Parts: sequence; structure tokens; C-alpha cells
Amino acid sequence: MSSVVRPLFERASIGSIALTFLGTASAQPSSTRNHSALALRLGRDVWIFDCGEATQHQLQKSTVKMGKIEKIFITHTHGDHIFGLTALMASLLNGSGGVAEGEEDPRLNIDTTSAALEIYGPLGTRAYVRSGLAYTYTNLGASYVVHELRFPSDPSDGDFTTMPLQLAECAFGRNIHQVNNCWMDIYKDNMVSVSAAPIHHSVPCLGYVIQEAPVPGKINPSQYIPELKRTGTPMSVMSQLQQGETVILKDGTLLHGPPRRKGRKIVILGDTFDPSPIAALAQDADLLVHEATNAHLPGVDPATKDTDTYEIVQARAMSRGHSTPQMAGTFGKSIGAKRLILNHFSARYPGDNSEQSRDIMDTIGQLAASEFGQGVACATDLMTMELGLSET
Ligand SMILES: [Zn+2]
Ligand SMILES: [Zn+2]
Repeated sequence: MSSVVRPLFERASIGSIALTFLGTASAQPSSTRNHSALALRLGRDVWIFDCGEATQHQLQKSTVKMGKIEKIFITHTHGDHIFGLTALMASLLNGSGGVAEGEEDPRLNIDTTSAALEIYGPLGTRAYVRSGLAYTYTNLGASYVVHELRFPSDPSDGDFTTMPLQLAECAFGRNIHQVNNCWMDIYKDNMVSVSAAPIHHSVPCLGYVIQEAPVPGKINPSQYIPELKRTGTPMSVMSQLQQGETVILKDGTLLHGPPRRKGRKIVILGDTFDPSPIAALAQDADLLVHEATNAHLPGVDPATKDTDTYEIVQARAMSRGHSTPQMAGTFGKSIGAKRLILNHFSARYPGDNSEQSRDIMDTIGQLAASEFGQGVACATDLMTMELGLSET
């Protein structure tokens, strides 16, 4: 498949950034925790990270607008992270199961020169989507494309399936190769970029880093207005100053706009027992989302085995490809993350409103905080977190 040069999508600014947890369970979903999925709202755009079973139901229960979803990023192809993908695609892209013989189906003629939905994921994502759509006779009413992030041990070319392109599938899906052990700028526009790097799990898995471009600094009008009035300069130059530009006044005075502030950086990890390969890329994240599947909670979780120690629980979690809260806190501290949110909890921690569940989740947060050095939040389904701009 050839790569395609996309026109640069120009955003004026991103504005608000908010993260909504659509599913926070590990292997077994429950009445309180759905399988993994997360919605990142960048202004009005919505990007989904992982798409476990029933993600579309969670979207309907949330304030996230399904019609605004334009990209889906998959961390790994374990079912609890991808089982909901083709179902969500069918809803988003107006899919149907075809029409009776002799009837005309408009979905058999889809324009695939551009993609209404972009999907990114590791090897197998394209084949999974193709099989899911083909064997359920799902014809989509709009186009999609799958870009795969290939590991060095993966086949470097080809679709990894003999199944042909779907009618709604664009042929320009890229196979993106690692450079310096990561996938840089798999998506980029003038205001935001997405990169990825591998993290260690029981199957090929990755984490995503979403980086906002530098944003205009905070402007103090009283610093400029007297000078503009004194020299009879139109107030409209304030917009140039706001952008950080330098303006020369009639009398030769130079006014410098405030320097740009660092953009926001969000790191969303898939399942992991050691995310160190993404550490350099994730450095100084404003927000880190890290799994904490298993915890040792003596005296708090009555199901704790007497013979268990923290070391035993950690070793067991790692052997299954997962982390404890302390491991998440340690990684968060090592990359200088400003905030840490835990997700992907064992079915043992339903996170309901009972006193015991609240104690358990408080303790899990505290265990992570003991290593992170500050408060840590445990995600609940449909929880939303806003991410403001930094002051500097
Ligand atoms: Zn999982
Ligand atoms: Zn997994």
C-alpha cells in the first residue's frame, strides 16, 4: 500500500481538552466497569483510544458526541480492547446488512478517495476489521482506513490477510515502521501530533503520546495598551501580540508579544508490565493514563490470600503482562508526569459505591500515590477529566 500526502488540516486552536473514561475494566467487564475505551475530546473533535465490547453503549451514556469521532487508536488487539471496534464502525459509518436481492444498495458504491474514519493500531487491526465486516455482511455507508504500526519483527509490507479490501476501505492505509524505537508523528496537523512507542505486555502493545503544539502565551493588555494609545496604533495589533509576534510602533518602539506556552501532553498506555520503552517520548506528560490491574490489599480487600505478599502479587501481575498501582506510580514519577490516572482494574475491584469498594479504590490510589509523590485518581466509567493549559 502506498502512503498518501494529506493536506494539512488547519486548526485555529484546540481549546478545551477532556478525557472521558468509557471503560475501566480488565479482562471481565461488569455492571460497573465496561471493557477498555477512552474518548479524548480536542475541542469539538473526538478521538477514541481502544474500543472494547459495548463502547458504543458507553458513548451513548456519556456526553461525548458519537458523530464527532474521526479517529480510533488501538493499543493492542486483545479482545477487551478491540471487540467493540467493528460494532462502533457500523454505527458511525451507517452500516447495514445489505438489501434483498434485486434492490439497489447505495453502500456498494462508496467514495474511498478519502477516509471518514481513520483507525490506527498494531499488526492485525486491519485483518480483524476486514474479517469482522466481511463475515457479518456489514456494508458501511462511508469510508474508513486502517494504518498499522508495525514492530520490527512484523512483516514490513502487505495487509497481513488474504481477505480483499472491503468496499468502504480506503486503499491508502499505511504500514508505519519504527524509527529510533518509536512511531513518530503518525498523525500531525498544525496544532496536535500523535506518536507511539512499544510497551511490554503479553502481546505486541503500545502507548500513544498526544502532543499539543505550543500555544499563545497569557497576554496582559495593560502592558501594551498605553503604548498603542500613545503612538496612535490601531488596537487590532493586539491579535498579533497575542500570537507572540513583535510589533514595531511608529516611533520605533518594539513591543514583544508573550512567549508561547508549552502545549499539553497526554500519554495513554495500553496494558503493560513495563512501559519503559515509551519513557523518553512520554517525558513530562501533563497527564498519564496507566493501568493498575492487580493490587495487594491486606486488611482492605477481604479476598486477599493470607499467603500473598506484595512481591507475590506484583510477580503474578507481571507474569500476566500487568501492573500494580505502585508500578504505575513509579513509572509516572520517572517520567515527571504531572497527573496520573489509573485504569484497567481487575473484576475484583468493581468500583461501585459500597463502603468496601470505596475503601479498596482509595487504597489503590494511595498505593500509587506513595510512589508517584502526589495524589492519584482511579478512573471510573464515564468519568471525565478536563486538562487545562499550563500557566507558563
Ligand atoms: Zn486489557
Ligand atoms: Zn491486554
